[in-house]
Amino acid sequence: RPSPSPARSRPAPDNGGSADSCRVRVAVRLRPKNSEELAHGADFDNCVELQPESKRLKLKKNNWNCESYRFDEVFSENASQKRVYEVVAKPVVESVLEGYNGTVMAYGQTGTGKTYTVGRLGKDDPSERGIMVRALEHILSSMSFETDCIAISYLQLYLESVQDLLAPEKTNIPIVEDAKTGEVSLPGAAIVEIKDLEHAFQLLQIGEANRHAANTKMNTESSRSHAILIIHLQRSSRIKGENCRSLSNDTLDIFPDNLPLVLKSKLLIVDLAGSERIDKSGSEGHMIEEAKFINLSLSSLGKCINALAENSPHIPIRDSKLTRILRDSFGGTARTSLVVTIGPSSRHCSETSSTIMFGQRAMKVVNTIKLKEE
Ligand code: ADP
Repeated sequence: RPSPSPARSRPAPDNGGSADSCRVRVAVRLRPKNSEELAHGADFDNCVELQPESKRLKLKKNNWNCESYRFDEVFSENASQKRVYEVVAKPVVESVLEGYNGTVMAYGQTGTGKTYTVGRLGKDDPSERGIMVRALEHILSSMSFETDCIAISYLQLYLESVQDLLAPEKTNIPIVEDAKTGEVSLPGAAIVEIKDLEHAFQLLQIGEANRHAANTKMNTESSRSHAILIIHLQRSSRIKGENCRSLSNDTLDIFPDNLPLVLKSKLLIVDLAGSERIDKSGSEGHMIEEAKFINLSLSSLGKCINALAENSPHIPIRDSKLTRILRDSFGGTARTSLVVTIGPSSRHCSETSSTIMFGQRAMKVVNTIKLKEE
């Protein structure tokens, strides 16, 4: 193992001395009206009013008996993908480049823009690119191929089964937690080293196609599964030597063990399943199964966030695979940023309200950002 280096005792990055510097950051993003909402006019009246200057959002309840909520940022329907990346994800990616773990996650009702925000490829229109592509672009342009290495795993969590979107024959991938460090790994999941942005696009496209194919086979929608992109970054002060090892299945360890400084970090980018409650009445078979498991994973995430927000001694992290995978993201050592997505229509006011409450509670979670000890 590399011996401890001065870099490992560096303070958390970019804290600016403020007390809440390790708090989970939460932004809200409003989707523009879709054609149905535009066509129906007053029927689909706005249920929210944004006040970007004060970073507040007013939620219309009975007759504009408004409740107002403050977030770290409030994005209107005109906010660009670039701006959302810069505010929500860029600080996390910068931490990851310094060796810290990070998480960027989208939460919200189906159809409110989670995949648009996080997973949009925008291959031919760079202005459309979502957080996954922009984060990869940012890391690729900031690292040195002589000394550093970047690889990705792309997974889907569906019905409490972790499936590999880069190697779809791999299903039921186990989640393993290191008892000493708490580090979570997914042995067996493909870790593919990335050469350049074009290669990253190819892999994301393969992942997207496999997600679509898997969901078609299961007769379900992609919004019923959680998509998780893991970017593994390894940075060294030394030039890669001849005795580099190739990537093994579950570890990214291409440098000889005796190097003085090797920083390994992970960035999780998560597109969660739709947070709406699934109506079980009239549903049969797999629909009931889906409802049970999505409700299980998102409600256990909500319970962990509540417990962390209240400083409860018991955090029910083991209740679902989602919370086990996100162990480092909430109450752990990662820098975490969450974007909650909402639609404008008053038809979905109660879902919008529960998304907003989820975001408000997540803002109370404080992580301890630190470098992982080897
Ligand atoms: P979700 O992933 O939450 O189910 P999507 O990302 O699929 O939702 O978005 C639903 C639709 O709305 C898509 O057609 C998407 O392109 C569009 N959309 C969402 N957010 C925006 C936005 N900010 N600007 C333009 N179109 C958007």
